[in-house]
Amino acid sequence: MIKAEHLNKTYQIGELSLEVIKDLSLKIEDGEFVSIIGPSGSGKSTVLNMLGCLDKPTSGEITIDDTKIDEMNRTQLAHFRGVNIGFIFQSFNLIPVLSVYENIEYPLIMIQNLPEDERKKRVLSLLKEVDMLEQKDKFPDQISGGQKQRVAIARALVTNPKIVFADEPTANLDSKTAHRIIDLMQKIKSEHNTTFIFATHDERIVSSVERLITLVDGEIVKDERTTK
Ligand code: ADP
Ligand code: MG
Repeated sequence: MIKAEHLNKTYQIGELSLEVIKDLSLKIEDGEFVSIIGPSGSGKSTVLNMLGCLDKPTSGEITIDDTKIDEMNRTQLAHFRGVNIGFIFQSFNLIPVLSVYENIEYPLIMIQNLPEDERKKRVLSLLKEVDMLEQKDKFPDQISGGQKQRVAIARALVTNPKIVFADEPTANLDSKTAHRIIDLMQKIKSEHNTTFIFATHDERIVSSVERLITLVDGEIVKDERTTK
């Protein structure tokens, strides 16, 4: 379970204090399929980054399972993230000098002591799921935006994380691919009880999730279960 209590985030820009997240509290249970929606600039990415342990709130507390995030040091946090969290970035963040295959393999090498043949099995299986097998030896600057997005998705899923955060993960995908990716995520959720937390405007995701959290000006204005 993810628990956020009274989160505030303020950016300091010179003399100016920009209060981006205001007293935000929420709970997300294991296996939820949730999207944070709201206008551009409402704070969706900021919330995702804080819950995903990439950014710290100015004040407030985040607990994941029984772990208080702000009580961990950098090394502990890096390990915790590596084992528990997959993050799909809006801007992909692929490593330019690694091939498609190596980008997906990277989190497995960094974090887990998996034997090489098991690593290979997982990477190939995800390459297939995101339909990138034929591009596996290409480098990020040789593939399209939609293909980069698919690599970023595979990289986030390859460790079988407990929680996947996805910032606009389908923004660059055509309808067919987007639906395929959403189906894949739903399948992973039902097989492993993985939690998925999206930040998106994409109607294709919005219509697939079980819960919608609406953010306006850094505050939750609506939190609803959708009937499906
Ligand atoms: P969303 O993802 O909903 O579009 P963001 O979380 O990216 O919103 O941004 C929320 C607000 O915080 C925006 O006004 C944005 O300009 C501001 N913001 C985000 N990151 C920073 C930063 N590093 N420094 C200053 N302001 C920021
Ligand atoms: Mg954003």
